[in-house]
Amino acid sequence: MTWRADILTLFPAMFPGPLGESLAGKALMERKWSLKVTDIRDFGLGRHRSVDDTPFGGGAGMVLRPDVVDAAIAAVADDERPLIFLTPRGAPLTQSRVRSLAAGPGAVLVCGRFEGFDERVIEARQGEEISIGDYVLSGGELPALVLLDAVIRLLPGVMGHAESGVEESFSEALLEYPHYTRPAIWNGREVPEVLTSGNHAAIAAWRLDQARQITQRRRPELYNQYIASGARAP
Ligand code: SAH
Repeated sequence: MTWRADILTLFPAMFPGPLGESLAGKALMERKWSLKVTDIRDFGLGRHRSVDDTPFGGGAGMVLRPDVVDAAIAAVADDERPLIFLTPRGAPLTQSRVRSLAAGPGAVLVCGRFEGFDERVIEARQGEEISIGDYVLSGGELPALVLLDAVIRLLPGVMGHAESGVEESFSEALLEYPHYTRPAIWNGREVPEVLTSGNHAAIAAWRLDQARQITQRRRPELYNQYIASGARAP
């Protein structure tokens, strides 16, 4: 089954962009996912196809009109797929939300510009708001690409090794352990001995220990969640 992405944007030429390359690009050609891009400008008003207006109450910038955004959504949305507005005040994107989206039929992603959306269209459509981090970008297009990239690599048959999504960062609430490849000694730096021992149990234990240490040091709040979720403290 094809995972269906619909993008609503004022900059349709930004898609598929980087998702036309590598794993995601190959998966797109193989129809493991599909992409339909809708130009919000097509639903703009008047001779200038206007999509935005000044904010009620004053202040800087322009706001996307609810009637225009709603008409664009009406043209693509079905009840089946989650409707997602990319906004900096949305729920921070997590690997668990990515996993649940990948397990579903697809998503409709609405990219903001200027100061963002008129609040009423988000309310009326009962959209979900997702943020990709605590910083402000100039539009929702890069956030939509980020979200899609994270989802697509989890779709069945997209990643080479089925298991490569299982052990990585966040999948077990821990950051990932460090990786090494050839040469075994590089600029005087050796690979940790256990990794060349052939002792699989010792390697697994070392990796878990490393993942815990790295998580505790870099992301104490994640580590506390991991301990609270019932993992045994080392
Ligand atoms: N005035 C808004 C920022 C608007 S940025 C505020 O202060 O919250 C313009 C558009 O870029 C937004 O509508 C949104 O679609 C997108 N955007 C910017 N930063 C984002 C982020 N961190 N996550 C998701 N979308 C973002």
